Amino acid sequence: MEKEAISIKDLHVSYYGNEAIKGVSISVQPGNLVGIIGPNGAGKSTLLKAMLNLIPKDKGDIKVFGKTVKEVRKKIAYVPQRNDIDWDFPITVLDAVLLGTYPNLQLFRRPKKKEKEWALECLQRVGMEEFSKRQIGELSGGQQQRVFLARALAQKAELFYLDEPFVGVDASSEETIVTILKELCLQGKTVIVVHHDLSKANDYFNQLILLNKELISFGEVNEVIQADIIEKAYKGQFAFMKEMGV
Ligand code: ADP
Ligand code: MG
Repeated sequence: MEKEAISIKDLHVSYYGNEAIKGVSISVQPGNLVGIIGPNGAGKSTLLKAMLNLIPKDKGDIKVFGKTVKEVRKKIAYVPQRNDIDWDFPITVLDAVLLGTYPNLQLFRRPKKKEKEWALECLQRVGMEEFSKRQIGELSGGQQQRVFLARALAQKAELFYLDEPFVGVDASSEETIVTILKELCLQGKTVIVVHHDLSKANDYFNQLILLNKELISFGEVNEVIQADIIEKAYKGQFAFMKEMGV
């Protein structure tokens, strides 16, 4: 059997004594495009951050390709939620993407021509090469998100974690991003995307993690999108459920 891309066992995370993640266990095989779905405050961002060792866990075990997160951190690209990024930070598009090459650079080596060419290639893939000299703060939401995807691509990661990549993003950027994520999966990469509702879950993902502090359900999209299961996660938000046609 193939080695699991991600294996999480009995994960607990809390902030100041309030549990945000309660006993979550998941295992994801390589090549999947997985959506993390759940209401506001369900712990979706917390789960991603714990999966990156960015925040401490109370309990539990996280393995990536059978190793600790620390051992394989370079192999994981992370695109944070838009409001977690300081868009006023003075950095050009090209330099932001070049940052993605840093984990693979030897210590004390600056990016050179080779890395710049690769960064431009990644920008081209997301349709942003003409904007390489712009400041990131001068881009639209969709353009910013594409640049951060380019940075993730530049990292040559095996796993891609994206937190709400479609919020504040125009339809054409959303389509570009989804197409690239699907391509990455076809190449055997594993992609985890936080998405706050069920809209397009069917089109975008092949597996879903339905979360509301606890793991409500995990599996193939059609197994998870079932009225009783969704109800459990979105307790009583019936109007929303009707809209989704569940
Ligand atoms: P989601 O991404 O699903 O909306 P979060 O993971 O951001 O949810 O948050 C889960 C819970 O943890 C929420 O109740 C939130 O208020 C709380 N929380 C998140 N980050 C912090 C923090 N840095 N300090 C204290 N509480 C936090
Ligand atoms: Mg969040």
